[in-house]
Amino acid sequence: MGYLDLGIRALHEAYLRGETTPREVAEEAIRRAKESKDNALEATCYEEALSFASSLEECEKDNLLWGVPYFAKDNFSTEGVETTASSNILKGYVPVFDAEVVRRLKEKKAVLLGKTTLDELAMGGTGTSGHLGKTYNPWDESHRRMVGGSSCGSAALVAAGAVPFALGSDTGDSVRKPAGYAGLVGIKPTWGRISRFGLFPFAPSLDAVGYFTRSVDDAAILLETLAGRDEKDATSSEKSVDSYANFKDISLEGMKVAVLDDLMDTIRERKIARDIERLLSCLEKRGVEVRRVRFGEEMLRSIYITYFVISCAEATSNDANLDGIKFGPYPGGNTYEEVMAKARTQGFGELIKRRFVIGSYSLMRENQEELFLRAQRNRKKIVGRTNEILEECDFILTPAAPGPAPFFDEQSDRLSDAYLIADNHLALGNFAGLPSITLPLSFEEGLPLGANLTGRPFDEKRLFALSSLLEEETGLRNLSVRERKEGSL
Ligand code: GLN
Repeated sequence: MGYLDLGIRALHEAYLRGETTPREVAEEAIRRAKESKDNALEATCYEEALSFASSLEECEKDNLLWGVPYFAKDNFSTEGVETTASSNILKGYVPVFDAEVVRRLKEKKAVLLGKTTLDELAMGGTGTSGHLGKTYNPWDESHRRMVGGSSCGSAALVAAGAVPFALGSDTGDSVRKPAGYAGLVGIKPTWGRISRFGLFPFAPSLDAVGYFTRSVDDAAILLETLAGRDEKDATSSEKSVDSYANFKDISLEGMKVAVLDDLMDTIRERKIARDIERLLSCLEKRGVEVRRVRFGEEMLRSIYITYFVISCAEATSNDANLDGIKFGPYPGGNTYEEVMAKARTQGFGELIKRRFVIGSYSLMRENQEELFLRAQRNRKKIVGRTNEILEECDFILTPAAPGPAPFFDEQSDRLSDAYLIADNHLALGNFAGLPSITLPLSFEEGLPLGANLTGRPFDEKRLFALSSLLEEETGLRNLSVRERKEGSL
């Protein structure tokens, strides 16, 4: 056990007592990150981090993030630190400014150690498509399983116990899915709750800053700093920032939790479904009302394709600035078209190209009605149904995925309900801009399983309150693979 295994509050108390220093903790975090063999890092700034940590002398009493080391996904701008979004098209790009979340963390004197791997440009869910290849799941030492994506490196390093938290981004499930596969808490707050200034856009109507922690308490502490209006992002909300970390004040008596029976039907026979049921009975004993609802199977089945059309269309238009001129290696050529064609042919991986083709195809005038606009209309229907459920109930509880982290070469039938519904439903939270959090649920043969809770817009404080109750019931808090090695799991 070390200070990094304790959680943010306990680390802060150790700083206050003068037992350790940010420099010592950063050194230990760097040692652990170097020990991790999961291919989770794009770039590091260890020297700058150590000199910044050394400059922190007197612990600030009310600043829980003082001296806390962390990593950021490599699609956040970081001044002076190479940022590629795991794409060759951005090779060598060094931003001249910090993303707002990075700026806020710096102001709080949290210590940035480096940038983590992702699926190229955050498009993907496997952690295999970045330019550095696969990122591995730390819970599987044989390196045969994915940690999931797209925020793969951040998930891997928090699960490895290197840092108490790491930043990610979530457009469809990119924080909440890997959190489930890695035994972590992963949250995507309400759309607009956290400024996205300096986060590379993927699909702005769906994108949210998210992050990984090892406890609900740490997630709530962080949101107090990360949330809030930022003039540099016109889509950031003006709503005041709650005292999220005081979620213990909230009574859960009489709260209603919806379970989507048609989703559960697709995975009935699996351990994860039984563990969700067990959790539901615990909640009932604690005074929470559980309501079984059917979302509408056909609508659930349409989430994935709707997400795909909308996100690819937005991505292709957002990423038009990656043309080989403004950022990354300049490939040469006589005309703009030639430069752009060369840069994009060399710079993008196959999966990205495929998504841009689909995106552009859906946006073509002759296809728009049948693809893009149809997807938009369907999104509206899905959001309408979600909101209906959330009018009756305070939260929706689901598994984060149909099972534990898959093998890299595992084939799933992409037209099955288990895939279309149980593997892709988390995009509901992005369609409707809702706060949504994944928590560790249980273990299956040494691999973590995750549960997910989604709530009403800007209801993060109550979401934390219920999450903390679930955390108490499962007893799964501050998990990392180090504990397993030390024999306490
Ligand atoms: N897995 C989804 C995709 O492939 C989600 C990506 C994300 O949330 N960034 O697009």
